[in-house]
Amino acid sequence: MTSAHDRILNAVDRLFDDQVLFLERLVRFKSLRNEETGAQDFIEAALKERGFDVSRFRTDAAQIGRHPAFSPATVGYDESWNVVGRKPGASGGRSLAFNSHVDVVPAGSEYRWTSKPFEPRRDGDWLYGRGAGDMKAGLVASIFALDAIAQAGLFLLGDVQVQSVVEEEITGNGAATAFSLGFTADAVLSPEPTDEQLVRANAGVIKFRLETRGRPAHPREPESGQSAIDLMVRLIGHLRTLEGQWIAERKGKRWFEDLANPVALTIGTISGGDWIASIPSDCVAEGRIGFYPGEDPKARAAEVEAFLERIQTEDPAFAGERLVTLTWVGVMHAGYELAEGTAAEEALRSAHAATHAGANLSAYVMACYLDAAVFSVHGNIPSLVYGPISENIHGIDERVSLSSLKRVTKTLALFTADWCGVTERV
Ligand SMILES: [Zn+2]
Repeated sequence: MTSAHDRILNAVDRLFDDQVLFLERLVRFKSLRNEETGAQDFIEAALKERGFDVSRFRTDAAQIGRHPAFSPATVGYDESWNVVGRKPGASGGRSLAFNSHVDVVPAGSEYRWTSKPFEPRRDGDWLYGRGAGDMKAGLVASIFALDAIAQAGLFLLGDVQVQSVVEEEITGNGAATAFSLGFTADAVLSPEPTDEQLVRANAGVIKFRLETRGRPAHPREPESGQSAIDLMVRLIGHLRTLEGQWIAERKGKRWFEDLANPVALTIGTISGGDWIASIPSDCVAEGRIGFYPGEDPKARAAEVEAFLERIQTEDPAFAGERLVTLTWVGVMHAGYELAEGTAAEEALRSAHAATHAGANLSAYVMACYLDAAVFSVHGNIPSLVYGPISENIHGIDERVSLSSLKRVTKTLALFTADWCGVTERV
């Protein structure tokens, strides 16, 4: 008689072709911010078909500024839908929530992609497409891991959830909404693209918009004008100093001191001026900066504010009227550290070993925002971030390894069976 584990692994193998087709269909939805509805309809239908009790709810703008898990936002949430499928367990097992985000970042310069970013393409072991790795493959893996357990004729003892949230790439308010509505569990697993490693810690992150106001003028009288673009370049230069100070703070911080730059001040967008031969009146830049787990994001934001105030008094280029405006426009959230040796981690370690010929699960630091932080920081829930090998996420020719995806699906299925418990009959 075949063991329950073997039956689960065989079921993942049997279902895998369907899993990849399902993933390709999901990649075709161009689920950019506030355009995720089609993808969420697709996930909702798939969960209902599988007998999940599905909740669909808007990202909750009313909680911004009230609930500490929420971050500032600059868009309306009328079209911002989150989906959670729940299945009650047979009795008494530990509960599990899979948390994934269905929103993706823009493709960048589409012409630089080998093929169209929202038309999935298979080439050998790779599946290409924006969001294929980050993190539609993981979302689909959680659904098919549960399918495999059912196909193996097994029933989970503990409750399970599949969460498909939005806003991860900008504010984290989708996960915050799920959390504030009580969609929690004894453990959370978020199958982000981690190259089959476990995230031990992540960074806190704050996202800002800077506006500089210049004095527009004709180039024939440059001394009468002041360039908003030059001011912005100068301001960014000053911010690099702040970044250096924050990087230096990594000393003595256990998981961060070996990283070259855990802070990663990133200016992600910039625009300014409206005519090639006019001294520009306005410039806008947006970016993010990270900090260390255990720190209050509001205190870090206040530090940035104080730094910018000081620059404006000390640097004569900013003298006179107020030329700089700072706005908080995205995630403002703390980082987390996954405590070592939790029962959830041990369960993942043994599942990983079983699908990797006994190899040890390695852990690393991901110095960016992760929705797992919401559950870890505000719910004190062991939150495991573990997912497939992928390349070029947020870049050109993003791709996910299909053999890795299969291994990860097996790991997730074995982990779920172990964590929630299984029975042959109900
Ligand atoms: Zn992601």
